[in-house]
Amino acid sequence: MTRTTYSNPDLHCHSTVSDGTLEPEAVAARARANGVDLWALTDHDEVGGLQRAAAAARAQGMAFLTGAEISVTFAGTTVHIVGLGFDASDERLVQGLRQTRGGRGERAQEMAAQLAQVGILGAYEGALRYVGNPELISRTHFARFLVEQRVCRDTGEVFRRFLTEGKPGFVPHRWARLGDAVRWICDAGGVAIIAHPARYSLSANEEFALFSEFRQHGGQGVEVVTGSHTSAECATYAGMAREFGLAASRGSDFHSPDESHTDLGTLPPLPSDLTPVWDLLADRIQHA
Ligand code: AMP
Ligand code: MN
Ligand code: MN
Ligand code: MN
Repeated sequence: MTRTTYSNPDLHCHSTVSDGTLEPEAVAARARANGVDLWALTDHDEVGGLQRAAAAARAQGMAFLTGAEISVTFAGTTVHIVGLGFDASDERLVQGLRQTRGGRGERAQEMAAQLAQVGILGAYEGALRYVGNPELISRTHFARFLVEQRVCRDTGEVFRRFLTEGKPGFVPHRWARLGDAVRWICDAGGVAIIAHPARYSLSANEEFALFSEFRQHGGQGVEVVTGSHTSAECATYAGMAREFGLAASRGSDFHSPDESHTDLGTLPPLPSDLTPVWDLLADRIQHA
């Protein structure tokens, strides 16, 4: 197997196919302009942008991996699992993602009903104006509407005041099971990765259970360097990667030039003793 060394992989970001604001081609161009040499598009619960992304990566001369970020419910909390390098036409994966997307429309209606109770009217229709994929209305689209309406100054303020547990507009939702999401990815030939682990409100015991069960189900990676982690959190999860024998991933979680604090291709490198997830994916990489 020939192994190429990559200096600037970015393996987590979003397009208009989920809650990003750029089309897949524009995300590819921005990644390339920022020096990314291995790129994956990881839209939420959706693989519908991957053909366009792969073609754009090829046109840009950039190596590419298929990707998706699957919403999972674990210990009553939403956890995100990134899958990379899978066969995007795999029937079970496609069906699993369709199931996971199902229910977003109804959830959005309930979110709007709650917001109406605190005087914010028309949020469902307002959020829909920001939606690129009708099957993927997300909290981010509501956040953009609330900023547009000047209810909040930016999307960060929206998630502090609304749409999260205990705040108006929060509707609990049951996503995929951890074992199912990991198996969909692995059975389609990909590698499963725990996304931005520092973002979850899990107790130490629950976090240990997440990592243990994830491994037992066949999960192989954890995001260590991500736009969602401080440098201290990178160090913490580098330690977890060592403890659990997981490979490490690196991704900006870029959504939009106006909203994302971390741009594509601008993250620090992985700690050099960790196995990069792309070493596990050498034969799944689509070379330019
Ligand atoms: P959903 O899948 O509809 O629950 O929406 C989740 C999305 O909301 C995440 O993928 C982020 O893009 C966004 N999000 C969640 N929490 C925050 C936050 N605190 N600040 C900004 N965006 C957030
Ligand atoms: Mn998102
Ligand atoms: Mn996420
Ligand atoms: Mn993400």
